[in-house]
Amino acid sequence: MPSRRTLALAAGALALAGAFLILTPAGRSVQFLLGGAMVNVGYRLQDHLASYDFAPEHEHHISPEQVWTEMLHQNELAAGVRRAFPRSARHPLVAMVVCMDARLDTVELTGDTRKYYYVVRTAGSVLEAKEAEMLELAVENGVKLIVLTTHTDCAAERAATSAELRRRFPALTAAVDARQLRVTELLQRPAIASRIAQGQLAVKRMCIDTATELLRPQ
Ligand SMILES: [Zn+2]
Repeated sequence: MPSRRTLALAAGALALAGAFLILTPAGRSVQFLLGGAMVNVGYRLQDHLASYDFAPEHEHHISPEQVWTEMLHQNELAAGVRRAFPRSARHPLVAMVVCMDARLDTVELTGDTRKYYYVVRTAGSVLEAKEAEMLELAVENGVKLIVLTTHTDCAAERAATSAELRRRFPALTAAVDARQLRVTELLQRPAIASRIAQGQLAVKRMCIDTATELLRPQ
């Protein structure tokens, strides 16, 4: 049976640790790292469950309706967790444009689950007029940083270099060709250009390493 003194010391140590975690910048940094590590534990727990739902041995035989049923089931499970543990609403400070490639996970890429990011996902990270307008709207809503990304081993970019795929997917491959032009047009939009000139907005262009999700200069 621990003595009163031992219990009092343990309670004091816990209170100090709690105050460190909650009240100090270093403690908040530790919480952020711990949160990220625990999310990673969650990814690891799910990662190997190939036989749980879309089983590899059935994936070529599973019907679209079976896939849909499984997706609804998983959504119910996930939404149940969300109901039990509601999340804070955040005001995004960053808007990212990312290819729709399923290997890219923007939560993993940023190491941040707090919803500080607007994420526009398009095939080949291509901007059209509507995405440019959406980015401008996001900037008007308080976004201070736009990150335009491409990524290694991009199927859309590969399609743009294949004569056969260019014939089959003319709109996609033409959009990849026009990607640089669309970025230039985005930067020339008066609302974007004036904020960049005033130091209220930064626009960065990066390439995501698909294997590691590390951002590198393009
Ligand atoms: Zn891609």
